[in-house]
Amino acid sequence: MPQRADNVSMESVYQKGAYTMQRMTAKQRFLAALNGQPVDRPPAASIVSVATYELMDIAGAHFPAANVEPEPMATLAAAAHEVLGFDSVMPIFSIAQEATALGCRVDWSKTDMMPTPTYAPWADREAEIKLPDGFPDSFLEDKYVQCALEAIRLLKRHFGDEVMILGKVMGPWTLSYHVYNMQEFLCDTLMDPDRVRRSLDVLSPVPVVFAKAQLEAGADAIVWADHATGDVIRNTMYRDFLLPPHQALIPQVPAPVILHCCGRTLDRVQYFCQAGFAAYHFESANPAEEMVAETAGRMKLAGNINNPTTLLARGPEEVRREAQRAIDAGVDIISPECAVPLQTPVANLKAMAQTCRDNLRER
Ligand SMILES: [Zn+2]
Repeated sequence: MPQRADNVSMESVYQKGAYTMQRMTAKQRFLAALNGQPVDRPPAASIVSVATYELMDIAGAHFPAANVEPEPMATLAAAAHEVLGFDSVMPIFSIAQEATALGCRVDWSKTDMMPTPTYAPWADREAEIKLPDGFPDSFLEDKYVQCALEAIRLLKRHFGDEVMILGKVMGPWTLSYHVYNMQEFLCDTLMDPDRVRRSLDVLSPVPVVFAKAQLEAGADAIVWADHATGDVIRNTMYRDFLLPPHQALIPQVPAPVILHCCGRTLDRVQYFCQAGFAAYHFESANPAEEMVAETAGRMKLAGNINNPTTLLARGPEEVRREAQRAIDAGVDIISPECAVPLQTPVANLKAMAQTCRDNLRER
């Protein structure tokens, strides 16, 4: 793995009046922000993926190896801290890590795109809705699941308790998109709601089993992606189909859980607040001020720097302005809104982290 950059040294001490204040480590800072405790500055976070072509070249770890082999996966993840100066690292870049173990087909060979599931075993209406035989052992022995767990172990060995290590799982709604097929699944929320409930029910143990294995491997918190977004379903469908499973599942994860759900979500974040998540990672489609007002005192927020316009297409100055706006609005953890496009310039991601460092405050 690359050496730690000097500008992100965790040992630096600075003078403040009569006091000498020890800077927080990246992990202390992230955990404090997640728990609503005072921080020396807002953390900059890789919540889903900050893998880019440029970062792959700098780290010397590229797709597809960084999706299927533990060492390059950990090396690319570590670059979020060591090259970009972020406070967290997250090695599971795609949404497909657990899909093969559930009977989907995934093309892992591409160098220029994220792997995505291509075959949904339950799309056949005759297919029985059940997990593959041998779950959970067979799931945990799957090559791609093992790869993620080993990458987390390598990151833990490398960073110890200095840097926040995030794991990531897909919740039962997103897993249904993969195993059941997204169009079929969404149609059935209206046409065959019992089959939808059965899918959610059968898939529910998967993220809990995967999350626990990631925590045992060394993850400090879990990102839980469940794309029940306003772009595809009504807010009442989240409330009726997914809130009850979330309320049952999230307490089973013995660590803070961060919900990731892209798109417009202001109309359902009240329900997210009832599900037991420590934080919610949200998109720039939702103004930060409104999201802060909707969640105040109930759930911490991570996000919401725009990907396609700001991080991909604009320059460091615009990134700094947008990051500062999110900080001023009260977003607790500053992060790209979703997995960044692979063409995103490293200079823009560094500018986001630098803006967080420029906001040093008295604890
Ligand atoms: Zn997303």
